[in-house]
Amino acid sequence: MATSKNKKSKSETPLMVQYNAIKSKHRDTVLFFRMGDFYEMFFEDAKIGSRVLGITLTSRGHGKVGDVPLAGFPHHALDGYLAKMIRAGHRVAICEQTEDPKQAKGIVKRDVIQIVSPGTVLEGNLLDAGCNNYLSGIFIQDGTCGLASIDVSTGEFLVTEFDTEKLAEELQSIGPSEILIAENQTDLINGQISSLKPVITKREPWHFTREYGYEILVKHFRTQSLKGFGCEELDPGLSAAGAIIDYLQETQKTDLSHIRRLNRYSDDDFMILDNATRRNLELIAPMMSGQDLGTLLSVINRTRTPMGGRTLTSWLYRPLKQFKPIKERLNAVETFVADRTLRRTIIDKLKNIQDLERIISKVVMRRANPRDLVALKKSLSIIPEIQKCLKTVQTGRTADIRKRLDPCGDMTGTIEKALVDDPPVSLSEGGIIKEGYHSELDELRGLAFSGKDWIAKLQSKEREKTKIPSLKVAYNKVFGYYIEVTKTHLEKVPDNYIRKQTLVNAERFITPELKEMEEKILNAEEKLAALESELFSALRDQVAGSATPVQENGRLIGELDCYLSLAEIAEDYRYVKPEIHKGDQITIEDGRHPVVERMLPPGDPFIPNSVNLDNKENQILIITGPNMAGKSTYIRQVGLIVLLSQIGSYVPAKSAKVGIVDRIFTRVGARDNVAGGESTFLVEMNETANILNNATPQSLVLLDEIGRGTSTFDGLSIAWAVAEYLHDHPGVEAKTLFATHYHELTELALILERVKNYNVSVKEWGEHIVFLRKIIPGGCDHSYGIQVARLAGLPPEIIARAKEILHNLEANELTPNEIPKLAIGSKAPRVVAEPQMNMFSREETSLTRFDALSV
Ligand code: ATP
Repeated sequence: MATSKNKKSKSETPLMVQYNAIKSKHRDTVLFFRMGDFYEMFFEDAKIGSRVLGITLTSRGHGKVGDVPLAGFPHHALDGYLAKMIRAGHRVAICEQTEDPKQAKGIVKRDVIQIVSPGTVLEGNLLDAGCNNYLSGIFIQDGTCGLASIDVSTGEFLVTEFDTEKLAEELQSIGPSEILIAENQTDLINGQISSLKPVITKREPWHFTREYGYEILVKHFRTQSLKGFGCEELDPGLSAAGAIIDYLQETQKTDLSHIRRLNRYSDDDFMILDNATRRNLELIAPMMSGQDLGTLLSVINRTRTPMGGRTLTSWLYRPLKQFKPIKERLNAVETFVADRTLRRTIIDKLKNIQDLERIISKVVMRRANPRDLVALKKSLSIIPEIQKCLKTVQTGRTADIRKRLDPCGDMTGTIEKALVDDPPVSLSEGGIIKEGYHSELDELRGLAFSGKDWIAKLQSKEREKTKIPSLKVAYNKVFGYYIEVTKTHLEKVPDNYIRKQTLVNAERFITPELKEMEEKILNAEEKLAALESELFSALRDQVAGSATPVQENGRLIGELDCYLSLAEIAEDYRYVKPEIHKGDQITIEDGRHPVVERMLPPGDPFIPNSVNLDNKENQILIITGPNMAGKSTYIRQVGLIVLLSQIGSYVPAKSAKVGIVDRIFTRVGARDNVAGGESTFLVEMNETANILNNATPQSLVLLDEIGRGTSTFDGLSIAWAVAEYLHDHPGVEAKTLFATHYHELTELALILERVKNYNVSVKEWGEHIVFLRKIIPGGCDHSYGIQVARLAGLPPEIIARAKEILHNLEANELTPNEIPKLAIGSKAPRVVAEPQMNMFSREETSLTRFDALSV
């Protein structure tokens, strides 16, 4: 940073000395330095600011240090420019004038009042109402990783510990926008977080010592220990959690008491969904960014409040794994499916509830404006109405929500008494506090008002006295109140008028009595503004005292909103309640893909399909069929139905019995990560390796083609070996749907007892293929690639030659005793040993050409 080079010398201006002193404490930030009505950036910061914010870079002489690069913007534009800086990945220190310039002796005092970074933003235009914004802390100790995550805007604070090798996937289930790490653990952690691209903030290692973290946490929560949170025994988890609070205290410099609880969670509670699966199943964002296609969230989200939107998103990030809470959610949805009138009445009420969690956080952090408090009051006033509606429900989560909601009547009563119904956003505009709330304020208002009234009457009085009809009493900032007389009437001006200013056509005067009244009015107005702001701050602090019940209300309303939303979707799209159980069977009758069925053009019905998976007979289903037949749709719809069941939603099917799964893994489509230094094939193999290393018999694995990113021989060999491993390897044996174009894989069913073949049926109609979209038992004996190639217009001689080659290849698939040649060498005992087939012989390399023809 250039400033460090500018040693303090007598030749620097006092302002630069002050700037350098402040900047030296905030080297890793861009410093917004308040000067009067502007925020200025200097040196390197000015260059960054000019580049990122698109503002002009100028320079200014500052003593002998010479010209200093400078860029600035007006103070009222702070929010917008701050947002741009944060989005560009910078941390910003906001430095304000901390004394009234009028009172300052010498240079105005300044200090940094807040450091804003991606994980600590509170400003509305930087936050997505429907998503949490997490700041995570990571600390690794003896192979165990502590991960703590906080959403400062809502007060949610989570902590967990796990084996270090799971770090990447644990982080993916949180999706933080900023991560704090100890600078001496950079190498340990970097490899695991590269795919997330959050802003990394490195801290000195002492911030992460357990004792220090423990002390910070008990002080923050004002408790004797952390036993009440079930966190007393945690080790690196506490280091991470303590480091977060420590960082927030240092950067936010304000009250953080809205962070009231530390919630410990573990792998047993939630299904882990890695980034690949979330993306492949298009849960929250479409696979191809920029495409406005449906996602699971978009088709099930009818929430009416920001809390509801965030809750539903978090349910999709972390579906449940335990039987009881899943049942509770399903039953709550059922309540609102069964009673449409109740549902609609409550939905109508929810529409008027604003972001309780984020408003109360702003209140506690002293950043809420008058409108926020009024919004809080109006939102809370709806709670008793909701409780009344819910009176008919006596059991389950919904009854629980009714009992736990708290209208915070005293607090809303105080806001009602204190604030006008429609106050301005900014305190400085005045007119915020209601009449009758504070007697001194009423008096000052009376004074200011009567003074203005006096002035208004002065004009007509003076006009009458002087007989000057155009005489005017007016006000401007430079002269205060004055009397204006046009030049034609100057001779009528009385002696007691004192001339102040001459204009082209008029002259302006004052009188001693006018000035006396002016002083009274201005004094009263100044006092009024100060008192009003004082009263508002006191009210805001009083409201902050109700942070805990307001946050709890926010969480409960969010949950309720999700049940209502899911019930509405269930009714509108004919979803059914899945039967959840602890066994291994997944049986779905006439299931549908929740997104594809909504995207099909009118008149194009979605064809439902069933599935039957278990660990005893139907563990691996090989799905074959031509391009475009519906293989991908089918395997994804099974994954989505299981996932919907485990967030507690009804599902698009005629009926569904779902044995709870511990994870859903996917390997779908070709995608590369060139920016991350990985080819298409490497991405595919990374995803496959992740599945094989982590799947258990309780997992659901969706494989949409394996080995397409390499030559056919390599690909087919890998696909075959993967299927064998999933079938035979003890402890893996996951339920698997394997969609493939390698119809050779159907031969697996000949040797592996839990492999079953299915295909998506088509009818050949002359030259055409008619897609029936129905899954039927049995393998597809060829892949129709050549037909599709013909339809695409490839020359007839190529088609004919391709058929010939295909025939040659298929003639050699089985050994003389009907064992697939690909099975040779398998460890499965039932396979008859055969001499090793040379898959890479020269004669057979034309197979790769055939592969290139398929569309
Ligand atoms: P490819 O092998 O080329 O990847 P595929 O067999 O995986 O193709 P899908 O991508 O699943 O085929 O389906 C292609 C299109 O067919 C879908 O985008 C959808 O429009 C339609 N489709 C799939 N399944 C159904 C269904 N069950 N009912 C109605 N339309 C369907």
